[in-house]
Amino acid sequence: MSQYWSHLIHGLTPYVPGEQPKINNLIKLNTNENPYGPSPKVLIALQKEASESLRLYPDPNSDVLRKAIASFYDLETSNVFVGNGSDEVLAHTFNALLKHDKPILFPDITYSFYPVYCGLYEITFETIPLNDSFEIQVDDYLKPNGGIIFPNPNAPTGRSLALSEIERLLKTNTSSVVVIDEAYVDFGTESSVALIKKYPQLLVTHTLSKARSLAGLRVGYAVGNPDLIEALHRVKDSFNSYPLDRFAQAGAIAAMEDKAYFEETCHKVIATRTHLVKELTDLGFEVLPSGANFIFAKHTKKDAEVISAGLRDKNIIVRHFKKPERIAQFLRITVGTDAECAALVSELKQLV
Ligand SMILES: *Cc1c(COP(=O)(O)O)cnc(C)c1O
Repeated sequence: MSQYWSHLIHGLTPYVPGEQPKINNLIKLNTNENPYGPSPKVLIALQKEASESLRLYPDPNSDVLRKAIASFYDLETSNVFVGNGSDEVLAHTFNALLKHDKPILFPDITYSFYPVYCGLYEITFETIPLNDSFEIQVDDYLKPNGGIIFPNPNAPTGRSLALSEIERLLKTNTSSVVVIDEAYVDFGTESSVALIKKYPQLLVTHTLSKARSLAGLRVGYAVGNPDLIEALHRVKDSFNSYPLDRFAQAGAIAAMEDKAYFEETCHKVIATRTHLVKELTDLGFEVLPSGANFIFAKHTKKDAEVISAGLRDKNIIVRHFKKPERIAQFLRITVGTDAECAALVSELKQLV
């Protein structure tokens, strides 16, 4: 607290990211990073970029990258906005598209950055409870609002919502923006990107941090109607004209172009997840169905805090959100390599 701080800053409750401990030999299953490295083509592109040209500013609008993203989805460059991680894309979205008189709606259990952006941009919101099976119920969102946002699959539950349900929401909710945060969609959930041509109020956000193994590069994007994209560019150019540096643009282009590598890593993660779910179920965990690269699980007898601390003693870290009460007994476990998951299961056999 300081007399020098603005009134707004006094009242902020910032987001707390999962920890990045500086310990060797750690099995890190707490922040949903990809256990596999990025495409080798990305590394080559980055090396090429390490040159004298770094004295020059990067392309402010990342046109080549936006074109690469557009062609991945068979869209136009004008349908794509890019930012320094999808967190930045989301921040600009809250500011540009979700700040209206009526409160915005999002689930009670969801990505905990959403209420933080509401605090930063002074946006009022209403949380909509997930049902007892931790599912989003579209009917609960069919009321007047300033905008709607949720991840699909949802975080930290991992549960997916069917595309037909999203379309049902879009058919009714036509006068405010609907944002689908598809950070984890490539691990087996149906994408809403196909709907953007039909619904001008739909914005879909993505990140290269998870399915494209580039959390360290910080690239995210949004796709939608050019009118929504234009609003995001207005905010970007009132904030930071060069959010993506030369490395980020070059690496992200290579990642978007190497579709084969991307599909192969996603398939590996999905196969490991299937196996992990079975092993955890055998150990007495209740595991929610997951369409993501993590699972959300609760042991039928053993306390989550005890399990999480016991794993930590063995250099395995998972994420334990202690709040709200409904999820206090759940652990969110990132799907690692087969070897990492085997190590996890073997420690859990001792613990539970
Ligand atoms: C990881 C994540 C993001 C942020 O991704 P970055 O591109 O790394 O900023 C956004 N939304 C959800 C739901 C996430 O889990």
